[in-house]
Amino acid sequence: MDSISPAADNAAPAAPAQRTRDQVDDRFKWNLSHIFPDWDAWQRGYDELDRKIAQYAALQGTLKSGPGTLLAALTLSDEIGQLEYRVWYFPSLKYDEDQRDNAINGRRQQVQILAAKGSQAMSWFTPELLAIPIETVRQWMDANAGLAVYRFFIEELYRQQEHVLDEKGEHLLSLANQLSSTPYDIYAALSTADVKHPVITLASGEHTTVTYGHYRAILATNRNQADRASAFRALHGLFANNVNTYASLYNAVMQREWFHAQARGYGSTLDAALHGNNIPPAVVANLIETTKAGTEPLRRYHRLRKRVLGLDTYHVYDTTVPLVEFDRKYSYEDALAGLPASFEVLGPEYSKLLADALSGGWIDVYENPGKRSGAYSAPVYGIHPYMLLNHNDTLDAAFTLAHEMGHSMHTQLSHAHQPFVYAGYTIFVAEVPSTLAEALFLRHMLSRATDERERSVLLQHAIDGIVGTFYTQVMFADYELQAYKLVESGKPVTAETLSEIYFGLLKAYYGDAYDYDDLARITWARIPHFYSTPYYVYQYATCFASSAQLMKALMSGSASDRNAALDRYLTLLKSGGSDHPMTLLQRAGVDLSKPEPVRAVVDQLDVLVTQLENEIA
Ligand SMILES: [Zn+2]
Repeated sequence: MDSISPAADNAAPAAPAQRTRDQVDDRFKWNLSHIFPDWDAWQRGYDELDRKIAQYAALQGTLKSGPGTLLAALTLSDEIGQLEYRVWYFPSLKYDEDQRDNAINGRRQQVQILAAKGSQAMSWFTPELLAIPIETVRQWMDANAGLAVYRFFIEELYRQQEHVLDEKGEHLLSLANQLSSTPYDIYAALSTADVKHPVITLASGEHTTVTYGHYRAILATNRNQADRASAFRALHGLFANNVNTYASLYNAVMQREWFHAQARGYGSTLDAALHGNNIPPAVVANLIETTKAGTEPLRRYHRLRKRVLGLDTYHVYDTTVPLVEFDRKYSYEDALAGLPASFEVLGPEYSKLLADALSGGWIDVYENPGKRSGAYSAPVYGIHPYMLLNHNDTLDAAFTLAHEMGHSMHTQLSHAHQPFVYAGYTIFVAEVPSTLAEALFLRHMLSRATDERERSVLLQHAIDGIVGTFYTQVMFADYELQAYKLVESGKPVTAETLSEIYFGLLKAYYGDAYDYDDLARITWARIPHFYSTPYYVYQYATCFASSAQLMKALMSGSASDRNAALDRYLTLLKSGGSDHPMTLLQRAGVDLSKPEPVRAVVDQLDVLVTQLENEIA
């Protein structure tokens, strides 16, 4: 493997070998004194939060007196919420710096206990409000400007009420809740705690244990197909051995969902899952149908991989190994320096906010012993977002920075332009700005890459992102929908019926691009989110589709078209949770009930695959 390091990068320091936290220069660490100057100040904040919670509890029974008392309760609730952000995140972020610190973990748990006390002390609010007829509350909102701010929030409480049962019914359901997590707990015990990971012998003669992490690593790095095949057979063999148990567990998950849906008066499990965000079920149907009609670039990509990798047969375990060997380092400072140019197209207001984020103290860059793994953006209301990274000079790490910055800018714009009650945004919108930030960063990186191998690596990165965040998630949603239909129509659920559904989907999405292994039929058995979070991941796909359509609008048409698209996009980022996510996206020009957003993903993939074919030719 060779290492290419363009001249421009020579000045930027590489990620240091792991050092203790105090050996890391301050400019690579976040500065939590923006939240509280010290622990004494934090303690005063904590005590104030405690007092405010007690004040709130004392308001019980006052709502029906009129708009003034309702507004007072809402205002105090906002004050509590705002203070809670700071009181929670100070120890929580501090803890993530070094999770071995028991004293800080203790303070963090202290806040969790106070928050639980708070939600109990505030739980009277919703039932007390809902006892007042909506017409009365609407009159109050029409007459009181302060109260009118809360209109969407209040209307939502009444709308959600439609599927809430009477006290007896709710009590019965809450008793059944004790059983709800059991299928997932058994799945986790069977797949993690009690699993005996198999050992395989690689072509090199080395013996290796196929854990889940190691399995992914073998598929992503091992260039010997026979090694990948034996890792695949070993891992899926585990699930094949217990496939009837997995089918029973999955049936238990689905029966639980169907029980709750019926108890609450929904027509289907999908209706129940979508009601919270007010998403029409047609969105999911349209997502699946349009994606299925747009699999040709996906298949072309895999045919290209088969050719470039020089394989006679092409299997599910051949889909992630890199096409090109290229070992460039992406230093943090270099990645950071690329952000202003990447996001320039989002206009001066966005650039100004980005400059604030780069001014220091927002980002915790490097790994150190005890630090939390992964990456996130934490929205500390009233201060600014903090980003945790574990930058290790890989291309993935550079894109992670762009992704988290997309979240942080969204947070900044929402917080600045919305009243507190709508400052947060839902998951249905959250991954739109982060994936759009990645797309803009890719565009920038491609424009400055001078080496055709680097361009190929960048293109593969982008394509794998679309396959993983979009096509795979749509296929999973498709699987869930078909499996739940069995339950809803009273049909038996067996390992064989589930495997038939999954196998049918593999063929529908990948067609003749794959050579199919019998073991691939049971892949459903090992997907954790089927057991943990039903009907959840389709939201990654809808976010990705929204982001693709917005990107297309920002990049094409006349200058005035592009400006209008930018205006709409910034309005979306500024709108937080002030309306239902579908409505907010519609205002930004994205209608998820129509095929266009999904077609934008298909087009994007088509362009990227064509570019990759050209680079490789
Ligand atoms: Zn994200």
